[in-house]
Amino acid sequence: MASLTLDNVTKVFDDDGDQIVAVDDVSIDIADGEFLVLVGPSGCGKSTTLRMIAGLEEITDGEIRLGGEVVNDIPAKERNAAMVFQSYALYPHMSVRENMAFGLEESTDLSDEEINGRVEEAAEMLGIPELIDRRPDELSGGQQQRVALGRAIVRDPDVFLMDEPLANLDAKLRAEMRTELQRLQDDIGVATVYVTHNQVEAMTMSDRVAILNDGVLQQCATPLECYHQPNNLFVAGFIGEPSMNFFEAELRGSTLVTDEFEYDLSEETISSLGEATDLVLGIRPEDVELRSSVDSEHDYRATVDVVEPMGDENVIHLVFEGDDRTEENLFTAVLDGMKSVDAGQQLVARFPESAVHLFDRETGEALH
Ligand code: ATP
Repeated sequence: MASLTLDNVTKVFDDDGDQIVAVDDVSIDIADGEFLVLVGPSGCGKSTTLRMIAGLEEITDGEIRLGGEVVNDIPAKERNAAMVFQSYALYPHMSVRENMAFGLEESTDLSDEEINGRVEEAAEMLGIPELIDRRPDELSGGQQQRVALGRAIVRDPDVFLMDEPLANLDAKLRAEMRTELQRLQDDIGVATVYVTHNQVEAMTMSDRVAILNDGVLQQCATPLECYHQPNNLFVAGFIGEPSMNFFEAELRGSTLVTDEFEYDLSEETISSLGEATDLVLGIRPEDVELRSSVDSEHDYRATVDVVEPMGDENVIHLVFEGDDRTEENLFTAVLDGMKSVDAGQQLVARFPESAVHLFDRETGEALH
């Protein structure tokens, strides 16, 4: 067991003379036993980061340390890291037992008996002891994924590296495996870096989430911190479903003026803003309160455009009174699924000041 440190890690690819900065000066400390999820849009550098940790990709700059030891120049097979891929990468002609044991014979001095013991223990942990003599084509997708995990577990690694391991499973199995993987990681207690572009996985599985965009680390914090205190506009828009509502605003005195509404800020909020006057006001759909009458200065008349029933909640798309309906000026609110509203209905939307986020429009940085 060991901790893992990325210190100012950069990766530049040379693509026929074009320099592509895939990972840009990323620093993260992952504690022993911690579950870290690397998340971000396609092409943000997640897989490259994971591959550098595994030793499958050279580092252009910076340092990677595993258990305090710099591993930059240590080849993949000598790093005690176990990788699990989206494609399970099982050998079709081998049994589950052979697939799980594969590599152990070569890379360790364990006796056949010890290897067998580890394989059977892992199969037990994963709930597949009865499948141990089957071949991969006799297994379901979920069972194959368990075998791939088993192969990682038997190596008794210092770190688990997982690249979208659940991406090929259907939604129900995926949800089941999410919980199972968490339990397993908890039991084994090995530092884990898990790559996904699925934010539900990021939010539900991780101790901390590292959010990347264009190779740059945007925030590395607990899921709740990323949700409640996003560092910047990117994180605010990326975390949360449906996404945060954003309105460009200009601060005039103590009033934020947007194209749609004016919003008076308290002294306390204004004092946190510094010099910036070009701002973005953000509010999460779940923080927008829908009411029937205007009772406060932060209440705005709006018309329901579309209602999306999601079961336990309804996602309501609204347009401010007096606005033409365009994709740009729709905003969303979330309402308890038991309460009903209809398209065309006139309502009042309240944006409570305690739930409002303010960002510097130029830098994207969160100010409040
Ligand atoms: P996805 O979610 O789509 O898998 P990702 O976040 O894992 O994306 P990476 O695969 O790490 O992203 O890629 C990061 C950037 O580096 C992309 O712009 C990609 O095109 C580029 N890249 C990755 N591998 C190479 C390579 N071998 N040569 C040149 N560019 C590369």
